[in-house]
Amino acid sequence: MTVATQRVTVVDHPLVQHKLGLLRDQETPTQMFRQLVNEVTLLLTYEATKELATEDVEIDTPLERTTVPRISGKKVAVCPILRAGVGMLDGVLDLITGARVGFIGLYRNEETLEPVEYYVKLPADIADRDVILLDPMLATGNSTASAVDTVKRAGAQSVRLIAIVAAPEGIERLHASHPDVHVVVAAVDRGLNEKGYIVPGLGDAGDRLYGTK
Ligand code: URA
Repeated sequence: MTVATQRVTVVDHPLVQHKLGLLRDQETPTQMFRQLVNEVTLLLTYEATKELATEDVEIDTPLERTTVPRISGKKVAVCPILRAGVGMLDGVLDLITGARVGFIGLYRNEETLEPVEYYVKLPADIADRDVILLDPMLATGNSTASAVDTVKRAGAQSVRLIAIVAAPEGIERLHASHPDVHVVVAAVDRGLNEKGYIVPGLGDAGDRLYGTK
């Protein structure tokens, strides 16, 4: 994966946009919401990993010897930010089956909107891995920036974020602290409301994933 600055990829593929429309719909029930988050994440992962290095290896097909590309280089550490990021985890692991998984527990103080870290468990060799952070909503950007601080403190050098919806403020905040983090997202929405929710958004992703409201 390459490191660049101020990078955002919005995946406008019709399948992603169709599924995002269903996620936004408040009538979409919990079970379907969970399934859609999984599917959208898988499609975003496809995009987020398109720069993975490959090397040519020789193999035998049933008919003859040939050269095929194989993913080489650094392995992946996928790190969901608790709790909503966990809803995206299987979507990544379905494609990158050998990825190691780290967890970062953050909650947002609803008054200050500042992140509070309460749990961190990362792969020991995270410094040797490409890190993919998962958080469906890049809202203020404070918790994502804090999660990037955490993985970089642990040695990570290549970090990207897969989110489903981002606010422009969140992207700006994240890139102010970490301009090297590539953001792959299904949509960049209008902005944040007074409670820090993305509008039009899809509501509280954790509550909708786990049926807690
Ligand atoms: N977190 C969410 O789940 N939704 C938002 O809109 C913002 C933060």
